[in-house]
Amino acid sequence: MILFEEAQKILNKTPVQPETEGVKSDETLDRILAQDIVSKINVPHFNKSAMDGYAVISKDRSKEFKVIETIPAGKVPQKKVHLGECAKIMTGGIVPEAADQVIKKELTVEEDGTMRMNGKEKNKNVCLVGEDVKKGDRVLKKGTLLRTQEVGVLASLGLDQLKVYKKPQAGIISTGSELVSPGKSIAPSQIYDSNSYSLSAQVLKSGANLLGHKMVLDDPDKIKKAVTDFMGFCDVLLISGGVSMGDFDYVPSILKKLGFTLHFEKVAIKPGKPTVFGTKDHQFVFGIPGNPVSTFVVFELFIRPFLYRMMGHTYEPFLMTGVLKEKIQRRKTKRASYIPVEYKQGFIKKLPYHGSAHIHALTRANGLLCIPRGVKEIKAGRKVHVRPI
Ligand code: AMP
Ligand code: MG
Repeated sequence: MILFEEAQKILNKTPVQPETEGVKSDETLDRILAQDIVSKINVPHFNKSAMDGYAVISKDRSKEFKVIETIPAGKVPQKKVHLGECAKIMTGGIVPEAADQVIKKELTVEEDGTMRMNGKEKNKNVCLVGEDVKKGDRVLKKGTLLRTQEVGVLASLGLDQLKVYKKPQAGIISTGSELVSPGKSIAPSQIYDSNSYSLSAQVLKSGANLLGHKMVLDDPDKIKKAVTDFMGFCDVLLISGGVSMGDFDYVPSILKKLGFTLHFEKVAIKPGKPTVFGTKDHQFVFGIPGNPVSTFVVFELFIRPFLYRMMGHTYEPFLMTGVLKEKIQRRKTKRASYIPVEYKQGFIKKLPYHGSAHIHALTRANGLLCIPRGVKEIKAGRKVHVRPI
């Protein structure tokens, strides 16, 4: 059995070869940038009015200003502003030559082509050339995960084609002779296959491509065939169930027979101890214990960061920090425990949780709290960090 940190190190050192592809600006959400973004333009690229009002020379102390033209957004001004003059201007319009201030409309009255001020304008109300982004600035780094806010930024720089990392092709096998697909009737000895679905959702949320999922009986030949079939077109295969100590847990031995090198087969975490990671050439396989919470947690701890690595991104969960409402205790401390918790307004609340089969506990949870190895109790009132789920 290896420690969580050792498993993490192995995964982080495993060579991956992210490939790149071009996408259009409206296909960038949740993709990972494969290029630095250096702006070819200033933003804004002209001195831009931040208000509807009148463009003037700021040092002009005139009582009245002659309105020399009207400048809507999108129009190039035709005239230079002189002392005693102003140009009526809309938000987003080009501030005309010589003007350096926009008096907002609310502080003015206009009559017969003349503007008078009825209040003092304290602000310049001009967005200067390059104030937001300067030509040549590196705006985004290679390896950045493009969230909703980055999508607009890329478009604001005028980019319509971007280089991103290709999505890894993932497949899922759920092993278990007791499994039945949702929608089918269920016999007394059977349970519904939920892992295929939770893993599919997690794969898709991580931005990888899901090629499909398949349920397979606990039969070595059938598992072998399913693995071989998926390996024909997958970069990464997730296999749920069949990795523990039971008589019908065939997955690790099958993977070895198929030529995979297994880098670990047990990790000191709870749930998730019998997690397996194997490689063969440039293909990767994870064997995940079948209890649904184990499957879910192992994906979050190991597989999500690994899928991101395959796409050139370093995944760092944005930890939520809060005060523990009630103490958390346990007897055994050999493994790091991950338990579902609720984070709400600065507090971390323990939830009813019966162990790794209790997938329903996750619906109330929005975080996983880690009780580190060797720790028996975390006292109420302690500040703790929670991994979001
Ligand atoms: P295993 O890891 O195969 O020993 O399975 C551990 C527990 O998880 C058993 O109670 C299984 O019935 C359950 N289990 C295994 N696979 C799935 C699955 N795909 N969906 C839901 N539960 C599962
Ligand atoms: Mg099983």
